[in-house]
Amino acid sequence: MSLAYGRDLFVTPGPSVIPDRVLRSMHRAAPNIYEGELVDLTTSVIADLKRVVGTEGHAAIYIGNGHSVWEASIANLFAPGDRILVLATGPFGHGWAETARRLGVNAEVTDFGFQSEVVPDVVGRRLAEDSEHRIRAVLTVQTDTGSSVRNDIPALRRAIDEAGHPALLGVDAIASLGCEPLAMDAWGVDLVVAACQKGLMTPPGVAFTFHGARAEERRVECPSPYWDWTPRIAPRAFYQLFCGTAPTHHLYGLRAALDMMLVDEGLGNVWTRHEVFAKAIWAAVETWGKEGELRLNISESGVRSHAVTTIRTGPGDATRLRNWCDSIAGLTLGVGLTTPDQDRNSIFRIGHMGHLNPPMVLGALATIDSGLTALGVAKGEGALEAAAGVIAAAV
Ligand SMILES: *Cc1c(COP(=O)(O)O)cnc(C)c1O
Repeated sequence: MSLAYGRDLFVTPGPSVIPDRVLRSMHRAAPNIYEGELVDLTTSVIADLKRVVGTEGHAAIYIGNGHSVWEASIANLFAPGDRILVLATGPFGHGWAETARRLGVNAEVTDFGFQSEVVPDVVGRRLAEDSEHRIRAVLTVQTDTGSSVRNDIPALRRAIDEAGHPALLGVDAIASLGCEPLAMDAWGVDLVVAACQKGLMTPPGVAFTFHGARAEERRVECPSPYWDWTPRIAPRAFYQLFCGTAPTHHLYGLRAALDMMLVDEGLGNVWTRHEVFAKAIWAAVETWGKEGELRLNISESGVRSHAVTTIRTGPGDATRLRNWCDSIAGLTLGVGLTTPDQDRNSIFRIGHMGHLNPPMVLGALATIDSGLTALGVAKGEGALEAAAGVIAAAV
């Protein structure tokens, strides 16, 4: 039998739960795409996105997903043959590096593995070796959505500066934007890429690049008219912002999402709420792990993401658990998204990004607890009390 006859819950790390308010804001007739409300609304969306990113630099919006802005940022900043250093802490760093390679860029990867954060000293030493300053940029992810590590971006900036190296710093904040603090300008980040379907709670389809003055100075001539930043950051007509038709309904959706984050809740509360839910989930997993094989993929709490948690299980248990939760309970967990050296059937993820409250988080954990019991997976007792206790203590 199945018990899944209520509202389905997705705790996948993107796309995330779409708030009813965002859905309702998109339920409308097609607007005028040349003048009027949509033009003004877009100006306000761009201004508010910059607030969330913490920048007064340039923003470009693409009709595309996260992969589109990996490509857009590379196409505007590097020419074929240019050298860059990409820091991988899971599959997403490798993905950005591969995009660069396909565009002819010489992308060197420093791989910190699937269970570790970027070690700034290692980066500093590599840059110090590059005495001719051939490495044009260091690229990394803030949160790697596969491993659920969170990299210390200000520490990375310091390591680059201490090496006396002029490399630009580019950060993929696709999973972390709107979930954890990001202060692009204050942290000395030159490039941020992001997308709308994770912390920004909007259906997939729109993505962003943000770049500062140093990146603007070092741009190359972009061979692609579609990726080219020039018309997008200084449009002479509205359509040039998007190199064509605006993503009309996404803009309304984003406006609603940004109002929820910046006006109703406040960015500080958004970040704290994500931290509380992350800690509640960690407490549950650590308690389950007192017996049996469930473990957090990232053992050190200070470098764990507040947006997604990757959990290791005994052989095959993760896949069995996901199937049970999905078919019996209407709860969709994130699949193991790993580097090839990991067993994907023994890893699952809980996305805790965006539109979530305690009943959703605790409901997901309790459902997982039921699934583990039903499947006979060994676990410590008291996980739900531990999670509930973290939430109780937070307010
Ligand atoms: C989701 C994600 C991507 C890829 O985004 P798509 O929309 O699937 O193309 C890239 N980087 C990170 C860190 C992500 O979380």
